[in-house]
Amino acid sequence: MSGVWQDQIKGFVNSIEKVKQYINLTSEEEKILTETKTTWGTTPYFASLMDRDDPNCPIRRQVIPSLHEHENRFGMQDYLLWKENRETEEQRPDCIARQYRDRVAFTVTQVCGVYCRHCFRKELVVDGDLQLNFNVDEGLQWIAEHPEVRDVLITGGDPFLLSDDKLEYLISKLRELPHVEMIRFGTRLPIVLPQRITPGLKKVLGKYHRVPIWVNTQCNHPNEITEETAKAVFELLSCGVNVGNQAVLLKGINDDVDTFRELHQKLLRVRIKPYYVFYCEPAPGIDHFRTPVEKGAELIRDALRGHTTGLAQPMSVIATNIGKIPLMPDYYIIGKDEENYYLRNHKGEETSIPNMPE
Ligand SMILES: *Cc1c(COP(=O)(O)O)cnc(C)c1O
Ligand code: SF4
Repeated sequence: MSGVWQDQIKGFVNSIEKVKQYINLTSEEEKILTETKTTWGTTPYFASLMDRDDPNCPIRRQVIPSLHEHENRFGMQDYLLWKENRETEEQRPDCIARQYRDRVAFTVTQVCGVYCRHCFRKELVVDGDLQLNFNVDEGLQWIAEHPEVRDVLITGGDPFLLSDDKLEYLISKLRELPHVEMIRFGTRLPIVLPQRITPGLKKVLGKYHRVPIWVNTQCNHPNEITEETAKAVFELLSCGVNVGNQAVLLKGINDDVDTFRELHQKLLRVRIKPYYVFYCEPAPGIDHFRTPVEKGAELIRDALRGHTTGLAQPMSVIATNIGKIPLMPDYYIIGKDEENYYLRNHKGEETSIPNMPE
């Protein structure tokens, strides 16, 4: 391995000594980092975006473990088994999670560019309690045998941490299957390791092709977006790869109107299309990040819809074992009678349109 992005992985900030180059640890943080057995850390690039002195820095809180991770009143045990529908009758390899008929999530690695403290896959990627076998060829074989699957979502861990050669293998195998119409990648690297978007990777992902590639990244706070992010996204778009965002709604990090609006406006400024904002899932040890269920809908109502560009609107959803369920604001239909529908806009103004019979 050599090159800028591989150096970022070699220099991974996952020890007290290294993290002290970026932040002044509080005594509590230092104690936690000394005692913890959990996997934690991030790239030097992302570490450098943390505030040196503020333990409540929105990036720092996603990177540095907290004592609250030991509290667990609402998290479900064996969350991932429930969530990824592993206990159903259909036989699937460990790497394939299925909730829908026409699309699947395909896990190809457990390694990440940041071990997010709010991760719902914590049991797998962070705590390592859950042992699964991610065999890429097994997954490819299963997809080949399921012609109803038209959309393959490659996830992890972070699939963009695979080498260019491995990604090329994966993509070319999927593109050989006539029923695969699109390939999606879920990756945080445009945010935590934008240096990964190299000419070599562009060659693997890019060019005109029957099977398009869509990337969804995860950006939760405007401070995570830099000039480097903007360049990485532009590079992806310039080779035909679309880029969207799947934010996680996190208490004290992005759950106020100003931050939420700035996040979504700033995403558009670097050409990322907001796709989802996720309710923080009831996985173990992340109660302290969770907002009320209605919060996402309220923020869309109060910060985005009507208040700013329509393209800035994500859909608020909760991911469950039976698929993603929208949690959207429904304030705008006030009522109806035989004559009219009565509607309300973001400023509270009211109007009506005719109620046309079917
Ligand atoms: C999130 C997810 C998908 C994709 O859902 P979309 O709403 O199409 O983005 C597919 N399969 C699984 C198992 C998922 O968790
Ligand atoms: S990058 Fe994704 S899979 Fe990895 S820790 Fe963060 S949320 Fe979890």
